[in-house]
Amino acid sequence: MEPRIEIPAFPQGKRIAVTLSFDDGHTFDRKVVAALNRLGLKATFNLNSGKLGRTGEILPDGYRNYLDASEVADLYRGHEVAIHTVTHPFLDRLDVSQLAYEVLDDRRNLEGLVGYPVRGMAYPFGVYDQKIADLLRGLGVAYSRTTRTEEKCFPPEDPLKWATTAHQFASEPTVPQRFEKLYAQPRYSVFFVWGHGFEFHDRNDWDALDRLFAPLSGKPDVWYCTNIELFDYEAARSRLVIAANLRSVLNPSALPVTLAVDGKLREVPPGLTLL
Ligand SMILES: [Zn+2]
Repeated sequence: MEPRIEIPAFPQGKRIAVTLSFDDGHTFDRKVVAALNRLGLKATFNLNSGKLGRTGEILPDGYRNYLDASEVADLYRGHEVAIHTVTHPFLDRLDVSQLAYEVLDDRRNLEGLVGYPVRGMAYPFGVYDQKIADLLRGLGVAYSRTTRTEEKCFPPEDPLKWATTAHQFASEPTVPQRFEKLYAQPRYSVFFVWGHGFEFHDRNDWDALDRLFAPLSGKPDVWYCTNIELFDYEAARSRLVIAANLRSVLNPSALPVTLAVDGKLREVPPGLTLL
């Protein structure tokens, strides 16, 4: 009998993808990153390159101090750095050339710091419209996060209008309560939380880092990923070509993709694999 070949949603048979997104690049991100690294969580940090310090001087944590550009590469290593525009304007108040500048220049500045193509984005103030989304698409932005929340947030109908699962300080059901509910369901899901480092500071509630995120951590069947890793994996699995005779599979992407062959997991490296 011919095998049944399925392409699971996430790598290595993981059932749920957990990804986080934090905006603005204040010095508070140091505490956020330290907690995430301790818990084994991954996040995307959306930065305004025009607001970063340029003195090489490391400022102490304080109310809305911005990080120095010289800290960015080391601090966010293992996470994703993404566009949040150069100066954090209301994008719907800009003409098209200013809008393009805010996005592309932020991208170039951040790429100069981190050394890889920066492709993701979050909208300043959550503001966007169809015209803005279409321009970003034309500029090659892979996704842009909104501040909307939806129970099923991935894959989005339009990656340039990407909703999240919840804000970090969502009222009941809280982030841990929402995760517990989702985790109890058997289907593939993405759990996507967004917020800001300064909100922990403003509420004087740094304990929230552990209270909110420890319940999400350490699960063997959860894939902890950045925002762009989620999109890249989805693109890779959707490009997989399985021969009609089920004897070979072509993976044209640069990422290994996991197959389930009669329920048994098998990793398909880039290129051609015989089954
Ligand atoms: Zn912002």
